[in-house]
Amino acid sequence: MKKIILATSNSNKISEIKSILKDVPDLRILSIQDFGVTPQISEDKNTLEENSFKKAVCIYNIFRIPAVSDDTGLFVDALDGEPGVHSARYAGVNASYSDNCRKLFQNLKNIPPENRSARFETVICFYPDNKLFRGICEGRISNEPKGKNGFGYDPMFIPEGFEKTFAELSDSEKNNISHRSKALQEFRKYLLSR
Ligand code: IMP
Repeated sequence: MKKIILATSNSNKISEIKSILKDVPDLRILSIQDFGVTPQISEDKNTLEENSFKKAVCIYNIFRIPAVSDDTGLFVDALDGEPGVHSARYAGVNASYSDNCRKLFQNLKNIPPENRSARFETVICFYPDNKLFRGICEGRISNEPKGKNGFGYDPMFIPEGFEKTFAELSDSEKNNISHRSKALQEFRKYLLSR
């Protein structure tokens, strides 16, 4: 049986990834959680690609098991793509999700709805195969936070074709259209084709 290791200890991500990859035959999915360690890897690069590559290489070098990592950013057109690769620490190194949302709303306060377009982008890296998989979810930034589900910028992101924020959608509704699930579907296709 082939093994892969997920470079995350985020339980939501682990269960989402396991559920999307559940029909890949002969695959055992481990995560760094299974080893009881959380290596501190700083996401200090300038692109999602470089950050996810860095994480996958580090985890592969520690465990010697093919590693899967992901990096995500929210890119807002009116802010020239910010917060982008800095999404996790937009309002500072120790910023909470609500600090980041508050800063983003503040920076968009004079921007009308038609100019609030944005997209989530996820890049997944699989190493040592050296493969990158991308998923994009287009949408716009709401005028006020809405909804209680999800995490991060979910209360302020309205995906294209919806009038609700990600935080107002159920987990399965979000997972059907999300950036991360699209990147994971590409990864799944790759695993099935090998
Ligand atoms: P990460 O690369 O998955 O850790 O994502 C970086 C940051 O982007 C997180 O700290 C969140 O603020 C934000 N983010 C990532 N994925 C999502 C999502 O699905 N919804 C809302 N925010 C997200």
